Amino acid sequence: KTRVRFAPSPTGALHIGGAHTALFNWLWARHTGGSFILRIEDTDRARSTEEYEQTIMDGMKWMNLDWDEGPDVGGDYGPYRQAERLDLYGKYAEELLEQGKAYRDGDAIIFKVPLGEDIGFQDVVYGSIEVISDSLKDGRTGEMKDIVLIKSDGMPTYNFAVVVDDHLMEISHVIRGEDHISNTPKQVLLYKALGWELPQFAHLPMILGKDKKKLSKRHGATSVYDYRDMGYMPDSVFNFLALLGWSPAGDREIFGRDLAIEEFELKDVNRKPSVLDMDKLNFVNQGHLHALPVTEKIAMLKPFWEEAGVDLSKLEESYMEKAFDMMGGRGRTVKDLAEFTDYFLDFAPVTKRYKGDVDDNTRKTLKGFFSGLVALESWTATSMEAFARDWTAANDVKLKDVAMPMRFAITGHKVSPGIFELAEFLGKDEIRRRLEHFNF
Ligand code: GLU
Repeated sequence: KTRVRFAPSPTGALHIGGAHTALFNWLWARHTGGSFILRIEDTDRARSTEEYEQTIMDGMKWMNLDWDEGPDVGGDYGPYRQAERLDLYGKYAEELLEQGKAYRDGDAIIFKVPLGEDIGFQDVVYGSIEVISDSLKDGRTGEMKDIVLIKSDGMPTYNFAVVVDDHLMEISHVIRGEDHISNTPKQVLLYKALGWELPQFAHLPMILGKDKKKLSKRHGATSVYDYRDMGYMPDSVFNFLALLGWSPAGDREIFGRDLAIEEFELKDVNRKPSVLDMDKLNFVNQGHLHALPVTEKIAMLKPFWEEAGVDLSKLEESYMEKAFDMMGGRGRTVKDLAEFTDYFLDFAPVTKRYKGDVDDNTRKTLKGFFSGLVALESWTATSMEAFARDWTAANDVKLKDVAMPMRFAITGHKVSPGIFELAEFLGKDEIRRRLEHFNF
């Protein structure tokens, strides 16, 4: 049975690399019908906090990555926080001491690296890994330093705790970031010394920024919350992260969870580093956003409207459904779409954005055009457009010279759905109010 784990250290929010690792573990568990375990690696007592543990869990929940075992939900292999498992690490360290495979140096227990030991391993993604760093010769221990197991503060080191836990939790596949590949030979040694079977290792490709450098704070958004706040949907972030190192058949770029679960294969993961491309994320988000049913779309947009102080008393589903139809596919992020549609609900944001200042001549033209427009008997897009054509021809101005200011006065944006359709939709009274308000 497949058992995989995500093992974050609670020393910060869930960053994009961590979310990527969690996602690939989750996909493998769900694809195989196995279990996904959350283990908190909180042995760095100075930097680990309960708040970070909670933030990481909230970030996973936001992405809808549910776990079957973990510190909050329990399970048969607990406890799921390393700081609560110290007796277990102590027990196996003692065992290694008794067998003469480890020694004490003051308060620390240290593993004696045997000479010429085979430390090669097979990686599902990278293949056979014999020599990873200079200190490993031909896949054997050469100048590898002895490995600290228990530090003088009584805490286990990462390499020791991870081996004990992965073994006791019966982890079948260790799926983690490529940055841990150089730790794996040390872990292989410890498995062997303890007489335990190796799990399958699968290291995931590195994620790079657009400048091809390893993703870091310099590249801006790093936590999944940054993406939420910028207006990306959980399903899009999920889809986008899945594409970093993997893609479904036919190179589909926009897909849902079910398709990913169905098609995901660990062996298909690409070992090439992948680049975090915001254009791709925008494209993916746009696809997911516009495919949402109206109720969900409104639920997504609401926090952004509220944040911007939009009066939502006119918010009604059937009305907004027509408004979204008029928008077509415009708006890449939830935030964009909320801003691009706020004028359907409230005039106040438009007045805030309006910075129009026109010269006397233009003012005269616009006044003439607008007063003719709002005097029209038939308030349809077709008759408004016919009027606009006739009026501009008669007054020797271009259509866009009246349509653009009109658009801006009504929506507060330079782009919008067809302005006459919009005027018909919003109604004559509202349009008169908006045009008069600006008093061109
Ligand atoms: N706590 C480690 C980390 O956050 C886990 C690495 C592993 O999966 O083995 O990087």
